[in-house]
Amino acid sequence: MHRICIAGRPNVGKSTLFNRLYGKRSAITDSMPGVTRDAISGTVSLGDLTLEVIDTGGIGEGEAQLEQAVCSISRNEIRRADLVLLLVDVTDLTGEDEELIEYVRRCDRPVILVVNKVDNEQRVQDVSEFWRFGLERVVSISAAHGLGMDDLEDAVLEVL
Ligand code: GDP
Ligand code: MG
Repeated sequence: MHRICIAGRPNVGKSTLFNRLYGKRSAITDSMPGVTRDAISGTVSLGDLTLEVIDTGGIGEGEAQLEQAVCSISRNEIRRADLVLLLVDVTDLTGEDEELIEYVRRCDRPVILVVNKVDNEQRVQDVSEFWRFGLERVVSISAAHGLGMDDLEDAVLEVL
């Protein structure tokens, strides 16, 4: 089973994307116990593949004392992943995003830069800003509205 990790700073839409992927094609419910209680995972079928999709972050986001712990859990998940979906918000690119992009690059894991909240034409134009990181795969979506999901799924299948 392939491990797909949804990573990104708080509020970029990780849980919204997870719910959209999981809600549509969930096979069995599977929550992870113990130290990974901050990550939520679910089994998703895509094409002929079965994927373990992990929503890093989970509870505690935004609470200062938990942030460090959540961050290290996310980094563990990134290192263990067969594919990282690195989520960013098209309306708000921050230093934290750039750090995560650098981190994933250093981990040498396959990565798709997923630009979320691309809800309208103006925001489609703004996606080009994200090409400057030089990542091979950039896909724009609106997790909230379900836009771009076919492109994202195609990109996932291409990598795995
Ligand atoms: P997480 O902290 O990364 O898990 O982010 P959430 O999934 O909790 O989403 C954070 C906020 O962004 C919520 O208010 C979502 O409704 C909003 N959001 C998520 N996806 C989209 C999107 O595609 N478009 C817009 N406009 N808002 C979104
Ligand atoms: Mg979340």
